[in-house]
Amino acid sequence: MGRMTALDGITRPTLVVDRARAQRNVARMAAKAAASGTRFRPHVKTHQSLEMASWYREVGVDAITVSSVSMAEQFAGDGWDDITIAFPFNPREAAALLALAAAGVRLGLIVDSLDAVRQLDASGIAADAWIDVDAGYHRTGVAADDATGVVELATAIRSAAPRLRFAGLLTHAGHTYAARSRDEVLRIHEASVAAMRRAQASLGTAGFDAPISIGDTPGCNAADAFDGIDEIRPGNFVLLDLQQLQTGTCAEDDLALAVACPVVGRYPDRDSLVVHGGSAQLSRDAADGPGGQPAYGRVVELDDADTGWHLGDPPAYVTGLAQEHGTVTGPRAALDRHPVGSLVLVVPAHACLASASIRTFVTLDGEPLDA
Ligand code: PLP
Repeated sequence: MGRMTALDGITRPTLVVDRARAQRNVARMAAKAAASGTRFRPHVKTHQSLEMASWYREVGVDAITVSSVSMAEQFAGDGWDDITIAFPFNPREAAALLALAAAGVRLGLIVDSLDAVRQLDASGIAADAWIDVDAGYHRTGVAADDATGVVELATAIRSAAPRLRFAGLLTHAGHTYAARSRDEVLRIHEASVAAMRRAQASLGTAGFDAPISIGDTPGCNAADAFDGIDEIRPGNFVLLDLQQLQTGTCAEDDLALAVACPVVGRYPDRDSLVVHGGSAQLSRDAADGPGGQPAYGRVVELDDADTGWHLGDPPAYVTGLAQEHGTVTGPRAALDRHPVGSLVLVVPAHACLASASIRTFVTLDGEPLDA
């Protein structure tokens, strides 16, 4: 348990990154994108860490995706100058966007209505304007098969040239998360790519050249190649979590994030521990737990050879949450090794939300990131 020594200084819930695994996940996605001639524009909301984003630079990435204007400001401050804000354009943030553009950041913004294009045009912001397309997730976006709507939006963007540059069609196929096998993910992924191609064809008929940008980690991990896709924007792929594992699109030894949670209570009579690590840290996003119950995390144990961690066997899960308390349940053999005052490492159900809540990262060797 040499590495536990490295983590011994931890006093409160802390994000622990297996740097070797994370960098392997990055290298794998970068190589797959490069093999298809596809631009790799990772979404940094998964960690919001400048140091982890520097690992993308090391594999040749020069453009990123963010989900808020403040995140764009944070990363622009570290020299990123090609940033897509993959969240609907919010006219109330026009002043901050103008400042980013004036500072030399090439901005990508997304719109899905003529009203949004008009307000973007009126704001005077210079940007790449993407049409947000609903390819099956039904969160935002113009329906992929609404040929008239897609052409009207592209025409409106073009009429605001040269300040607005028509960038193409962008989607997030978040419905891949409902799948429970790689084959099922691939079916959803292929259907959403086909929907994007139909939208692209509608624009082609109207004389528009429309690149396609996609980005959801299950689809990007499941696909063997990205032929005909101009850009991918996965975010979670670098760290991964229980939700990704349950889609069957990553391996156990790809899991690169755990939350170190101090044990503060032991209840052998009800086969549980209580740790500092509640909904304020892990969020209420859940994965499939024992007997179909929600699991907010699963305990991992450090490898004897110090090469990483593995899912605890027998398994123990975080099955209950209060704001600061996490209840870990499992067979006695899984819990006995964790006395009060020790740390339990928990792979969260959803890495992005745990990272956004905790924000403090150390590597498995105890080295702080973004220090
Ligand atoms: N693009 C958009 C618009 C998103 O909303 C997200 C995630 O929510 C992503 C890309 C990245 O997807 P994932 O978290 O599956 O990697």
